[in-house]
Amino acid sequence: MICRQCPRNCGVDREKELGFCKEGEKIRIAKIIDNFMWEEPPVSGKNGTCAIFFSGCNLRCSYCQNYKISRGGVGKEYSAEEFARLLEKIDSSSNESIDLVTPTHFSNQLISAFKIYKPKKKVIYNTSGYESLEIIKEISPFIDIFLTDFKYFDENLAKRFSFAGDYREKAVTAIKAMHKYRPNVFINEILDKGVIIRHLVLPEQTKDSIDILRLIKKEFDDPVISLMSQYVPSGEEGIGRKLYALEYKIVLNEAKKIGLKKGFFQDLSSSSEKFIPHF
Ligand code: SF4
Repeated sequence: MICRQCPRNCGVDREKELGFCKEGEKIRIAKIIDNFMWEEPPVSGKNGTCAIFFSGCNLRCSYCQNYKISRGGVGKEYSAEEFARLLEKIDSSSNESIDLVTPTHFSNQLISAFKIYKPKKKVIYNTSGYESLEIIKEISPFIDIFLTDFKYFDENLAKRFSFAGDYREKAVTAIKAMHKYRPNVFINEILDKGVIIRHLVLPEQTKDSIDILRLIKKEFDDPVISLMSQYVPSGEEGIGRKLYALEYKIVLNEAKKIGLKKGFFQDLSSSSEKFIPHF
């Protein structure tokens, strides 16, 4: 099948050639971590989530924290039928939820698997935000929480780090669709279903982070955000230092000043290699 399942719109037959994500037609998984506790509380819960790290990526950021899987080509292949059986197995485990980490380039294959087996546990679609509208619409009946990044405001920054000058426009459209198809539902003030918009503050980029927060406030109604400080230099050619405390404080203060209070705010102490899984 010709692949146009993300905004890269490569138009390749992934059985014969590779597109930007460098993955073939079959689902490929680099690592599965049971009872993974390092996601936001609605995802991890008390027992942790089953984090499924897919191989490859449609964004391939140069500073990627998980570059060994987004670039390294490691992993085991699954057909849609085999992935459905995996979901069934996870359903009978102690994990709180199923966390699909960087699933975008396998979303059509995941929809086929969900049609074979729809999990009883909460399913999290943990994405870079560089998504097509059609995929969000089609996959939303199977997703409980969209955990989406909002990475860049500036077009040149998006080009420089992720070769995606249209990132902001595509992310706004996709995140609007996520809110439309999976509106926020709270139980006892904790998000049960809906959308969490994540932003990782990058070193030297506080202006871009502030522009993103203002955009989130303007574009989305009562958003739940997750502000992250955990960047560590680990990519192939990324940014060579951690985030300064002052940089994070400036961004955190802006979030509070403009009224983005609903969500999750990391401590600067989260900037450590221990938050990056080994592959
Ligand atoms: S999923 Fe991969 S091959 Fe398909 S359009 Fe996106 S980057 Fe290209």
